Amino acid sequence: MGSASKRFSKVVAIDGPSGSGKSTMAKRLSADLGFLYVDTGAMYRGVALDLYEKGIDFEDEKQVSHALKDLNMVYGTREDELIFLNGKNRTHDIRQHFVSELASKVSQKLSVRKAMVNWQRELAQGQICVMEGRDVGTVVFPDAFIKFFLDADDRVRAKRRFDELVEQGRTPPQLERLHQDMVERDREDKGRRWAPLLKAKEAITIDSGQKTMDEILETMKGHIRAKALHWGIEL
Ligand code: C5P
Repeated sequence: MGSASKRFSKVVAIDGPSGSGKSTMAKRLSADLGFLYVDTGAMYRGVALDLYEKGIDFEDEKQVSHALKDLNMVYGTREDELIFLNGKNRTHDIRQHFVSELASKVSQKLSVRKAMVNWQRELAQGQICVMEGRDVGTVVFPDAFIKFFLDADDRVRAKRRFDELVEQGRTPPQLERLHQDMVERDREDKGRRWAPLLKAKEAITIDSGQKTMDEILETMKGHIRAKALHWGIEL
């Protein structure tokens, strides 16, 4: 490692709204480059599902922070074993449409954000990782050695999310409803008080509606290699 690299966290930060393709790209990058994959949205979904099942009132900050102390959540390393709650693999369950809405609500709470951000920083210790979410480049790792912001037209993103749910064998809501829910969730994520969805000023913006996933992957890899070389980071 060159000395310049010490100024940076060895994190590839990928942020963007839902359906922007950031999960697909983060998974492919981590598989191709051998980096740890961290899906921060899965963590917020896990918290939301656990608190919901325990009957916690999301608006009651006291109840929420109390429940967080008892949270028994483990982040796994395999795609089909990402979130365990109370010893049970809930990776599939957290992808349900209603959990998306709950995650958006619970992620507005400062106690939840603080707990997740600490955890995300711990996970990244000592290894190169690709971390995707809404605030990775702005809050979790403002010193990430490279940052991307993926975005696309909201109709493109809604259709993409719809197709994903069908592919996973789920029954999606009607496309129009899914689109409306997504726009509402974007509005909440962008407008919230703590760590809103925001592009870090130095992030590389990619319009994922204009390119194929393969093209985006190659573009991102090119940027990562160039940045690593520039800063003396060994990949
Ligand atoms: O990315 P995903 O759709 O799984 O995220 C679910 C929700 O979790 C988002 O709508 C957002 O409200 C929240 N989230 C967040 N910060 C992150 C990742 C996700 O607030 N870093």
